[in-house]
Amino acid sequence: MIGFVGLGNMGGPMAARLVEAGHDLCVYDVLPAAREHFAGTATLAEKVTDVSTSDTVLLMLPDSTVVEHVVLGEGLLDQLAPGTLLVDMSSSDPGRTRALAGTAAERGVTLVDAPVSGGVAGAKAGTLTIMVGGPADAFAALGPLFGVLGTRVVHAGEVVGAGHAIKALNNLMSAAHLMVASEALLAGQAFGLDPRVMLDIVNASSGRSGSTETKWPKFVLPGTYDSGFGLRLMLKDMGIALGLQEATGTPSAVSAAAVAAWAAAAEALPRTPTTPRSPPG
Ligand code: NAD
Repeated sequence: MIGFVGLGNMGGPMAARLVEAGHDLCVYDVLPAAREHFAGTATLAEKVTDVSTSDTVLLMLPDSTVVEHVVLGEGLLDQLAPGTLLVDMSSSDPGRTRALAGTAAERGVTLVDAPVSGGVAGAKAGTLTIMVGGPADAFAALGPLFGVLGTRVVHAGEVVGAGHAIKALNNLMSAAHLMVASEALLAGQAFGLDPRVMLDIVNASSGRSGSTETKWPKFVLPGTYDSGFGLRLMLKDMGIALGLQEATGTPSAVSAAAVAAWAAAAEALPRTPTTPRSPPG
């Protein structure tokens, strides 16, 4: 049995793929509607500790605060049998992941970090990139499961938190690329150029990025802005990356400017009553 906690934009389709591949899942989300989507195809947990009978538990939650709340605050770790693999696939803070892994190890539970890239489309298609931090034997044991979810499964390092570190750094790059691409394309448009023509040129040139190849053509030009990745989740990842730069004493002038601009956008964006976020305290 595999436990799966967090059935949102990413976790929902990831859990669905595991079910379709024939795995027995016990699923939990704080939103009943997210759980009920799996009625008849998986065991529906009434509370998070109900997933503790699984030998592998995957988490796909918003951030470290929610992960810690679920694992420690709601007592999941207390209920897990020694030898359980606890896999945090959320984009969490690597330092906090490392601390949590230490607490888990005291109870005989191995915590592995395995965040993903590829968005909702990649989650649905099973084409995610999965970046894994943790011992080689745990990485090998999780291979079959990860193979259902992703096409590029990379062992980022033996150190827990390695995956979360590169995930945050990746998203910092992605967000900064999106901002500079947007500023450049707006300038070109104001100069009289067609954005589609500019994208054709840039995507065959050295200025290309995921933003010019995917985000602009699929989500910006059509005006749908529906990539499925919340602006504030990206800001969370950028903040983690900036913190890592500060902790390591490495240069961060451009990164800090990108984070400040993204934070201003988050401030300006109205909050919508969607999924629950960090629990109180
Ligand atoms: P989401 O907000 O859509 O889903 C999070 C889910 O967690 C929700 O269904 C929510 O109800 C549930 N949840 C919150 N608190 C809970 C609790 N205490 N107990 C149980 N369930 C709880 O977020 P998402 O877009 O699926 O992202 C999940 C993680 O993956 C984040 O860390 C995000 O940064 C990362 N990520 C997202 C994308 C993307 O494109 N959306 C891509 C890569 C990585």
